[in-house]
Amino acid sequence: MSGEKSLYIHYPFCKKKCPYCHFFVLPSREESEKLWLKGILKELSLYQFENPLTVYFGGGTPSLMPPEWVAEILYSSPQEVTLEINPEGITKKKLIAFKKAGINRCSVGVQSLQEEELLLLGREHLPSTTEKLLYILADVGFENVSVDLMYDVPGQSLNSLERSLDNLLKLPFTHLSLYNLTIEPHTPFYKQRIALEKKRPPPEESRQQFLLVREKLLEKGFEHYEISAFAKPAFRAIHNSGYWLGRPFLGIGPSSFSFLNNIRSQNHPHLDKWIQALEQNQKPISFTDPLSEEERLLELFVLNLRWLDGVDLSRYSLPPHTLNTLKKLEQQGLLLPGPRLSLEGILYFDEIAPELI
Ligand code: SF4
Repeated sequence: MSGEKSLYIHYPFCKKKCPYCHFFVLPSREESEKLWLKGILKELSLYQFENPLTVYFGGGTPSLMPPEWVAEILYSSPQEVTLEINPEGITKKKLIAFKKAGINRCSVGVQSLQEEELLLLGREHLPSTTEKLLYILADVGFENVSVDLMYDVPGQSLNSLERSLDNLLKLPFTHLSLYNLTIEPHTPFYKQRIALEKKRPPPEESRQQFLLVREKLLEKGFEHYEISAFAKPAFRAIHNSGYWLGRPFLGIGPSSFSFLNNIRSQNHPHLDKWIQALEQNQKPISFTDPLSEEERLLELFVLNLRWLDGVDLSRYSLPPHTLNTLKKLEQQGLLLPGPRLSLEGILYFDEIAPELI
């Protein structure tokens, strides 16, 4: 395959599953992890996927894996190689080894710097663990460091979010991804959803939380370049940008998604089924998106709208109802010429998106 493309590698193991997590996650066990590595090498061999622009080790908690595995899996020198890291249980020695193995960007699951919020989220780390880790990453020489921050958390107030952010902004990092907590079916949080929803900030306060984070980051020289992403100049996430701009990507590992030749697919979200398919020399795909070419293009267009530089309309041939909706949204001040989202459009994107499809 030629042209710019990305590789995503799903490492599905965690020490403990967080009560809100809806990803495909398994308990960390040496035997299963060794099978996983064997499977990953096998799956890669089934594709001619040369010279990806970026590689992303996501999970799960890929920072649990031995750094030598990264070196074993990487087969070229991509521009950006990201490792997701959980703050707990990672040593300076291991981080040095990851850097040596080819990792040049780290994405840290900070979520909050308030102890009671971390406790509610079932996270294993303390605010001080994150602080220490970010300094160690700088010390080891990682310049490209992203942090995940959560808002809309039950019991979180504007004040507690501001305290988290003020403390975070004293630490070394160059990118921030801002997520609102979602309560998904089949999670422990879903069973407690009525009680949890009562403690969540009301929608207007949740928007205030988003605006607060945005304002503070802009003040500190970050640019807001995608609805949920902020970066210091020259530190936009190249890998994630591909998702919003329609760059093809291959996802390997159980449950991974791919977008190749304009078709979305997903691997078996099951370790044994994924391994069985590989043992039979088959690509372990469980689902291929049945969308038509037009539907796919429209979906890509809506994703592309999340990119705040605006959309190059010449890439899309949009149906009349979408073009009319774009005009209407511009009249309502939700879109600016380009088209690109206005601040109001960013806040109400979840309501706008279905109207365009
Ligand atoms: S650490 Fe991340 S992937 Fe693992 S259980 Fe928690 S939220 Fe899910």
